[in-house]
Amino acid sequence: MSAALTPFMAQANTENQPFAIAIHGGAGTIAKASLTPQQQQAYRDKLKQAVDSGYQVLSDGGDSIEAVKVAINILENSPLFNAGVGSVYTFEGAHELDASVMNGLTMNAGAVSGVKHIKNPIDLAITVMDKSPHVMLYGMGAEEFALTQGYKLVPNQHFDTPHRYEQLQTAKKKIIESELKDGDYQASVARLDDEFKFGTVGAVALDKNGNLVAGTSTGGMTAKRYNRIGDSPVIGAGTYAENGVCAVSATGHGEYFIRYQVAGDICAKVKYQKKSIIQASDEVINQRLITAGGTGGVIAIDHRGNIATPFNTGGMYRATRKSGEQAQVMIWRDQ
Ligand code: ASP
Repeated sequence: MSAALTPFMAQANTENQPFAIAIHGGAGTIAKASLTPQQQQAYRDKLKQAVDSGYQVLSDGGDSIEAVKVAINILENSPLFNAGVGSVYTFEGAHELDASVMNGLTMNAGAVSGVKHIKNPIDLAITVMDKSPHVMLYGMGAEEFALTQGYKLVPNQHFDTPHRYEQLQTAKKKIIESELKDGDYQASVARLDDEFKFGTVGAVALDKNGNLVAGTSTGGMTAKRYNRIGDSPVIGAGTYAENGVCAVSATGHGEYFIRYQVAGDICAKVKYQKKSIIQASDEVINQRLITAGGTGGVIAIDHRGNIATPFNTGGMYRATRKSGEQAQVMIWRDQ
């Protein structure tokens, strides 16, 4: 038996392997004046709790899928973010949730879209990845599958929050006014300010075995209609991971992220052009997307645990933590 395969060596290698996690809670205008000090603190506390919980999994030797799940569950269960409880409303006043996950070790992936009764959509995305031969399940079919896997359905009202309901009323007023002007619903929705669009959550992690995983969960865009689905459940757009290369989770104006294949494009730059994660993600978010008119940001991590969190909006709720370091929690560019 070669020395490299003894249990002792395996453990020694694992112990030296860097690990890290990054999370986001959505990008958008986020004007400093729009958050009271108490609200700011509430966001920062929740982001810290999520990143620390994911970090703890990694530090204990757990895998990056579990770390991503634990961190995203905390954000889904908080009314502050547009995922799980606190998801935005559709035009008709309901919630349709999307989520996806990708495992960089196996290149397997799972996604659900348009689910209405799944408390933690990221869990179901993981179950689709692990327990089905498919990558993406939609709507009632996804929920039927969930039942076969022992999930309990929750009422759609479980995701209700007063502030998102108010947002829907304001958004609808804006849409209707602008629709009356040019009669174009799609154009009216596209014109909505960032504050009505964003707030998705996501996590990327590198575990001690060098495995990269990305996950994303969202309620989508306020006042979405006609079963609109964004980038978050689309592998290569909102989520992507490949061992040895990178893992990315996105947030922003989904239509652009789908058309520009944002998460996959960043990883392709790292893989084929040998660009650093910082340069690759900056080129896509701050050059390509800006030229296209697409707003948003990503969290990205490479196989060494380097992290990039670029965004081209006013702010992006985010937190990072690398092995042996403390958590960093940020909302704007400078803090
Ligand atoms: N990307 C999401 C979507 O388009 C929205 C967001 O990131 O907040 O559905």
